[in-house]
Amino acid sequence: MNSIVDEMKITQIKVPFPSEYGSGRSTNAYLLEGEAKILVDSGLDSEENRRFIRKTLEKAGAWDLDVILLTHGHLDHFSLGAYLQQETGAALMVHEADAGMLSDYSSHSSKWFEEAYEHAVEGGFDPSVLGEARIKLITGASILTRSAVYETFTETSLAGGTVRTLHLPGHTEGSVGVVAGEAVFCGDAAIEGSTAVTDLKEEFNSLEKLKVFKFIYPGHERAPLARADIEALESHFVSRLEEVLRVTKGGATLKEIVISLYRGLDLAQAPYKIILPINQAISYLKYLEAEGHVEKRGRGWYSFRERLSSPVL
Ligand SMILES: [Zn+2]
Ligand SMILES: [Zn+2]
Repeated sequence: MNSIVDEMKITQIKVPFPSEYGSGRSTNAYLLEGEAKILVDSGLDSEENRRFIRKTLEKAGAWDLDVILLTHGHLDHFSLGAYLQQETGAALMVHEADAGMLSDYSSHSSKWFEEAYEHAVEGGFDPSVLGEARIKLITGASILTRSAVYETFTETSLAGGTVRTLHLPGHTEGSVGVVAGEAVFCGDAAIEGSTAVTDLKEEFNSLEKLKVFKFIYPGHERAPLARADIEALESHFVSRLEEVLRVTKGGATLKEIVISLYRGLDLAQAPYKIILPINQAISYLKYLEAEGHVEKRGRGWYSFRERLSSPVL
């Protein structure tokens, strides 16, 4: 897909996931060509993807990239960028708050996992199943991680001020949107239908910021999105919160909450797949706890206010 927004040529590049990460999935990278050649995000690193991205950029006459600007520090956005940085000499840039992921993704993954683990075991999950998930996660991350040479920013503007960043925390702390006129490239801050959050309150604020843009280009799936898609995403989160309030009405363990939120989830079949849902449920609970809707007593979570009252909602 090619389009022109405010004198800038935008090319969407769908970078496929290597097959072990699920066939059919991909990362949306975007080549912006105006006063500078900027690649927003990259994809997962693999021999095949290196050939693919090189061929794609060469064909576009953009192998002489100036900058690879990352929307956040997740592996599916930065790891092929680390290769590109080495090959092309372009600057690889990431928000300061996500820089730790580029320098040591394994310890980032461990930390992310450990936070969920304690809650999960206490909340009724089988420790051996979670242990298997841990091994898969950590070994997977260390195979794919290459040490990246990068620069950090808290906010930056590029290409003579025609491109700037907008902090969009919620998916990760250092998530940013890349703004070019009426378009924003938002990484995983918004994906059609749903996105993973670490801080839902911040995510609601970030979604609010996204609504003013005419073209919202996400890091995965359909692009571009529009305001209505962002509103649908907000509604999705609200219905998840309401589901948590419903299931915790008489008290529920974390496991019961996860099962209620993710009905199709087979806890025995794919252990590593349960970590993300567990983390999501914890994010929802933290949000509701901070807003005064639920509290933890012993091993269970209890809701004592049925209606949501956040100003965002
Ligand atoms: Zn992400
Ligand atoms: Zn992603």
